[in-house]
Amino acid sequence: MLSDNCKTAISGYLILHMQMRRKFLFILIFTLTPIACSNQQNPNAYQLSGSTMGTTYNITIVGENLVNHELINSALEDIESAMSTYRLESELMQLNEAPINTWINVSPALYEVLLISEEISVLSNGAFDITVSPLVNLWGFGPEKHKNDTLPNTEAIEELLRNIGFEYLIIAEDREAVLKREMIRLDLSAVAKGYAVDVLAELLEENNISNYLVEIGGEISGRGRNAEGDLWQIAIEAPLRSAQNREPFQIIGISGLSLASSGDYRNFFEVDDIHYSHTIDPSSGSPINHNLASVTVIAETTAIADALATAFNVMGIEQAMALANNNNIAVYFIIKTADGFLESYSMAFAQYINENYND
Ligand code: ADP
Ligand code: MG
Repeated sequence: MLSDNCKTAISGYLILHMQMRRKFLFILIFTLTPIACSNQQNPNAYQLSGSTMGTTYNITIVGENLVNHELINSALEDIESAMSTYRLESELMQLNEAPINTWINVSPALYEVLLISEEISVLSNGAFDITVSPLVNLWGFGPEKHKNDTLPNTEAIEELLRNIGFEYLIIAEDREAVLKREMIRLDLSAVAKGYAVDVLAELLEENNISNYLVEIGGEISGRGRNAEGDLWQIAIEAPLRSAQNREPFQIIGISGLSLASSGDYRNFFEVDDIHYSHTIDPSSGSPINHNLASVTVIAETTAIADALATAFNVMGIEQAMALANNNNIAVYFIIKTADGFLESYSMAFAQYINENYND
């Protein structure tokens, strides 16, 4: 049992898509200093935090091994300079400008993320599609931000849809190179945060750290145990549109797994009381519009969980549930109803609800 001091120091809630469980208190620890407390099994727990990809990251480590914070920041910087659509000089933005029908060499990291994206596009029959970038901008959610007070007209959407389709990107199988069949523009926002979580997790493993939770903008990977020797407790947030109201809706215990969410309740705008989400349905060219408020996927890697969450969100509950059950994917849905929210989950997700706490 921990002393009260120790509990306050090393337990608690990570705010964002995640929070820890009911009985724990929370403070975010922003220092590299290991925390001394009376817990003999886990004398050290510390947190590293910062900003990346327009959001924040938090890493919680339990154990004696340390990792250099600079190493973390430099790994994140490498990913941003390869994959950001917010940096004109990024490798991705250069690829977006590159001519069509020419093989272009890409870095191993970009190659890996493009392969993962293709895999999820094929699996989701194009619901996940990194070539949506022009539509993301047209709807005012990309780097070319504009005031969302008027809606794009149908002609503009149809015009852009002509050059949208993941099949226009050819990925070489034998080397790290790609070819664009059309003048497509890629946006990795729905997978890059998850990929970055995986890179950081690998970096921690290389530093012999085996108990950790890595989180970037709500995409999470947890290995080993938390400071209480328990599974890492993650709360799936209630999909409330007010940023002030943040409540856990369901709490999941994980270890050796990744978890990512996609929702319509954080990044959106409203015109005439109609809600427009930042997730675009590539078949219509417009933001998704259905009763799914949030989608959470548990998978082996965070990149896959991240991309799948967006894919399922585009597909809507019925198609998404069928795809998940046919492929043994663990996914949890929160559905909007007239009186509030309802939960629903795939067969593979049931184990995380039933074995929730590891008391
Ligand atoms: P969420 O957690 O809500 O899924 P993400 O940040 O992971 O949010 O992904 C949303 C971003 O992905 C959008 O802002 C846009 O840049 C991009 N995006 C939108 N629709 C799609 C889509 N159908 N496939 C792939 N990426 C998309
Ligand atoms: Mg995502």
